[in-house]
Amino acid sequence: MPKIGNPVPLSDIPCGRCNSKRRISKSWVEKIPNSNGFMTLYHSQIVCTNKTCQEAFEKALSEDLEKRERFRQSKLEHSAKKLAPKTA
Ligand SMILES: [Zn+2]
Repeated sequence: MPKIGNPVPLSDIPCGRCNSKRRISKSWVEKIPNSNGFMTLYHSQIVCTNKTCQEAFEKALSEDLEKRERFRQSKLEHSAKKLAPKTA
């Protein structure tokens, strides 16, 4: 498989928050069926080797996800109200 761009592995780029070295904590391959057969996606999860930094990052990430989920829910409620038929 030919390599496209990205000559520097992500794990070689220092952490943007604390400048520490980062490492790949997890990598996996995902196969998504499409009209040509399969599309292969390579994923890797990069973590900071600075424990404090990584913990802070994960905390912020989960808070962000929570916020987004709440936003999504309120949006759903909002559109449900909009779509509700008028009783008058
Ligand atoms: Zn860091």
